[in-house]
Amino acid sequence: MILVLDTAPALAPAQPNTAKPTLAGRDRDGLRAALAAVGVPERQLRMRVNQLWGWIYVRGVTAFEQMSDVSKELRATLATAYSLDRLEIVEEQISVDGTRKWLLRLPIRGHEVRAPEIECVYIPEIDRGTLCISSQVGCTLTCSFCHTGTQKLVRNLEIEEIVGQILLARDRIGDWPGAVPPGDARLLPEGDRKITNIVLMGMGEPLYNFANVKAAMDVASDGEGLSVSKRRITLSTSGVVPEIPRWGAESGTMLAISLHAVRNDLRDELVPINKRYPIGELIAACRDYPGLSNARRITFEYVMLKGINDSLDDARALVRLLKNIPAKINLIPFNPWPGTRYECSEWEEIERFAAVINKAGYASPVRTPRGRDILAACGQLKSSSERLRAVDRPSQPANESGSGA
Ligand code: SAH
Ligand code: SF4
Repeated sequence: MILVLDTAPALAPAQPNTAKPTLAGRDRDGLRAALAAVGVPERQLRMRVNQLWGWIYVRGVTAFEQMSDVSKELRATLATAYSLDRLEIVEEQISVDGTRKWLLRLPIRGHEVRAPEIECVYIPEIDRGTLCISSQVGCTLTCSFCHTGTQKLVRNLEIEEIVGQILLARDRIGDWPGAVPPGDARLLPEGDRKITNIVLMGMGEPLYNFANVKAAMDVASDGEGLSVSKRRITLSTSGVVPEIPRWGAESGTMLAISLHAVRNDLRDELVPINKRYPIGELIAACRDYPGLSNARRITFEYVMLKGINDSLDDARALVRLLKNIPAKINLIPFNPWPGTRYECSEWEEIERFAAVINKAGYASPVRTPRGRDILAACGQLKSSSERLRAVDRPSQPANESGSGA
């Protein structure tokens, strides 16, 4: 099923072994605090933050000495106390379709004995490039069809670890002004910007890391920095209903809902958070999401599981459920992972299901799987060490709620 066709060799375990905290990925408050800590006077802080902001987020520099409008003395002070290091790449894989996946190692924090790992995926198309980023290490939720939900180690990512994924991806695909694209720049988008869209669809439930994800998306969308439009940032949630209105009001990004079932009994099993926030409450929160219009729709994700949620009755019920909500429907062919008890629906089934959705006026609802050869597709993200263990694990019995943890 899963073919390893064309993967790049693992990168050398590169990063300099420095204990200096990085400023790359920090928000303005974080930069301000860092500058104040090395004695930059209060009256200069705003101007210095703006200088650093441009160098880090417009130019993508990785050394303080490149910051030519910052005094030599301050550059030296900054270099003594801080770095501009990126997240450490453990492995980089490139799919035959141009999809790139990075396994990244995070700094050890608090009582952690092992450095946590996350994954980040870049999906190039002709007219856009989408970066799928993680918000947590693992996930506390246990959706029964999702590989990430079986991972043991869980913690929230810091702001700089979320933004850091964007910086790292821009480095690797040469997406900075004047940067040389990588030798194997095949299949990158045609336009100047190679990362035009961000989806919070990697590991984790982003609304359980609200503050850091919000601050990170503010950095990503800052017009004087990374400048990714909020209309091109999509947060995907399994349905943390109380946080949905707050996210809408405070962040202004687009929203995707991992729906996957139209009946509470089935959704309770597939997406167990449904037991706390059932479908009716979730749909009500969607109806009230700020700023909805036909040009700004909520995306409803629906994973196609053979014999589980893929009947034509389900398709008709889905259309009825979303009536009068400005919605897009995304049918996601299930991406298998070692040990899963589910199978992807047959292609004809998906087409029949899609035809019902199409007839109700939704355009091109099936999401083409990308990067399957490197296990980069939705729900397959998990650190490789965990994955190796999962290969040895027997399939879970059908009545278990899904967590292999
Ligand atoms: N935790 C958030 C965001 C990450 S998951 C959420 O659940 O929405 C991103 C999307 O991939 C979700 O819709 C998720 O349900 C889906 N997904 C998870 N595992 C999958 C799999 N094995 N195959 C296809 N889609 C999957
Ligand atoms: Fe967590 Fe989303 Fe996977 Fe569910 S689908 S376990 S919420 S990452």
